Amino acid sequence: MNLIDYVTGHVERGACQCGQCIDAVKNPESKQPKGHTADLMFFKVKMVNNPDATEFKSLAKREFPHWFDGREHSYLQTGGDIGDQGLALITMGLGKLLGVWELLTPNSLLPFIDEGMKMEMAGKGYISIKAKKED
Ligand SMILES: [Zn+2]
Repeated sequence: MNLIDYVTGHVERGACQCGQCIDAVKNPESKQPKGHTADLMFFKVKMVNNPDATEFKSLAKREFPHWFDGREHSYLQTGGDIGDQGLALITMGLGKLLGVWELLTPNSLLPFIDEGMKMEMAGKGYISIKAKKED
């Protein structure tokens, strides 16, 4: 099993539609439970088929060990590593939902700036993952 096969089998585009999330429609960003939907600016993703954090992490570490060097890695970098920015973004979202790394985006870091500026920053690469440094 390679990382991308694992990712494409365990994540789908779109926000979580479970009962807890559906009931939170009025103010989804603040009322949806954590860990159900990852916001990647260009689209959202949710988990499917019960992904396992340990398995995902070992696949990611085997193929892209530098993602675990404690630094930020933007989707421009991870997209270069994987060879596809869309796949890189869903991989980043799955890792976030599994608690393997932090996901840093204009929405999470700068929620107070206007939407146009957020999307401009996102387009320039301002969507990153940051994992804890490991030995
Ligand atoms: Zn949900």
